[in-house]
Amino acid sequence: MAGTSPTLAGPAWEYAPAPESTAIVSIAPSYGLFIGGEFAAAASGGHFSTLNPATEEPLAEVAQAGGPDVDRAVAAARAAYDGAWGALPGRERAKYLYRIARVIQERSREFAVLESLDNGKPIKESRDVDVPLAAAHFFYYAGWADKLEHAGFGPAPRPVGVAGQVIPWNFPLLMAAWKLAPALAAGNTCVLKPAETTPLTALLLAEVIQQAGLPPGTVNVLTGDGAAGQALVAHPGVDKIAFTGSTEVGKEIQRAVAGTGKRLTLELGGKAANVVFDDAPLDQAVEGIVNGIFFNQGHVCCAGSRLLVQESVADTVLDRLKRRLGTLRLGDPLDKNTDIGAINSRQQLDKITELSAAGEREGAERWSPPCPIPARGYWFPPTVFSGVSQSHRIAQEEIFGPVLSVLTFRTPEEAVAKANNTPYGLSAGVWTEKGSRIFWMAQRLRAGVVWANTYNRFDPASPFGGYRESGFGREGGRQGLAGYLDA
Ligand code: NDP
Repeated sequence: MAGTSPTLAGPAWEYAPAPESTAIVSIAPSYGLFIGGEFAAAASGGHFSTLNPATEEPLAEVAQAGGPDVDRAVAAARAAYDGAWGALPGRERAKYLYRIARVIQERSREFAVLESLDNGKPIKESRDVDVPLAAAHFFYYAGWADKLEHAGFGPAPRPVGVAGQVIPWNFPLLMAAWKLAPALAAGNTCVLKPAETTPLTALLLAEVIQQAGLPPGTVNVLTGDGAAGQALVAHPGVDKIAFTGSTEVGKEIQRAVAGTGKRLTLELGGKAANVVFDDAPLDQAVEGIVNGIFFNQGHVCCAGSRLLVQESVADTVLDRLKRRLGTLRLGDPLDKNTDIGAINSRQQLDKITELSAAGEREGAERWSPPCPIPARGYWFPPTVFSGVSQSHRIAQEEIFGPVLSVLTFRTPEEAVAKANNTPYGLSAGVWTEKGSRIFWMAQRLRAGVVWANTYNRFDPASPFGGYRESGFGREGGRQGLAGYLDA
């Protein structure tokens, strides 16, 4: 892990630190809410600190939105919908979306550094995944804005109105892009509530939206806690709610919205199976397993948190996996060599710690590579549990951390039965060299996305979403417009 790495050929050697400079980012001491095109303090004057999870040091004070702020933001969004934004034809909306995409690209380093500071994710991920994909979403949906009548939702689809959008902390900028881009392309206006622990890139995006010259009120950003999200969901002036987050809160939102006539899409948790057959290219599969569960510290709703490996190759796969994990580097998220960054919050660290302890108590075998943990900040080493049985909590519950549960199977039928033995249904992975087996598995796995011989691949043109307790509705692709259009 960090510091030294044994090599096959010779003595241990050191990585030189390669920290990304923070000079490109200027973080203000305090931030207001973004309502009607302006930044302003919360009506109550309330605020909270957002921390750097790698150091536990405060980064900035951020306004805490309350009921009157939600009223103002929804009124601003309504005025823009009935006014300047609503009056624009699709080809004009597209220009604004292209502009946002280009400014994100121009300011990509700033976004990447800020995201890693506020979230704790490694800079190589924010730089190479989060920020480029966020720009790609705006580019992609810009292309749809003037072609909605060809999107398959009738000859003259209409926007829904004001969208209330509540997003989580694991991909703060990217989730904002997933929500805003299709909504705006379809002609809606938006009130976005980022997660309490990661508000900064949503606020930088608000600045970009100002810079791109969108009519005031088209996009509003309300920072705050769960109560702010609740107030937004309950607001009678909102026509559609889009939520990404925990299944528990998703169910609460579904209850709150029932009977109101509001449209709803939910993208919730997962407990995905990554299924490795004995004919799979094993080194490639090991890379896919690592990417599946250790990318973004495992804070990924579609993470491959259950490895199902065919019994005949289980020992080989586990050996190679452990050897590979010994080369991962945990530490400073801003170091370009870092593979595993900080856990986003104390609360999330406690949850991962508690579930991992339950895994040990229930009899699974716990393993982590030797791994120095920094003295300050929130950290959890990459962890593998073997000897996991289906009834264990670590096989059933979403841990949302760098923790892999390994189970074995003998036949494809058993793999399918075990993979589907979960209340969730968001994603799955299949590793085999047989194309026919990929199709056989994909037909039987109850998951919104099935990756074959790869994992955690995202593309704005490809729809993403779940079944059962993973939620409903799709984001991405033509399908991602459905929640924002009335046929
Ligand atoms: P939440 O579901 O609580 O948070 C998601 C968003 O919803 C945040 O913006 C949150 O605000 C807001 N929110 C919280 N309560 C309400 C409410 N009653 N009404 C409307 N909005 C609300 O996730 P947590 O951050 O608490 O994480 C808890 C667990 O959820 C994790 O351990 C993980 O297992 C899972 N999770 C799954 C995600 C996924 O993508 N599938 C994403 C995030 C978490 P605030 O940040 O202020 O609480």
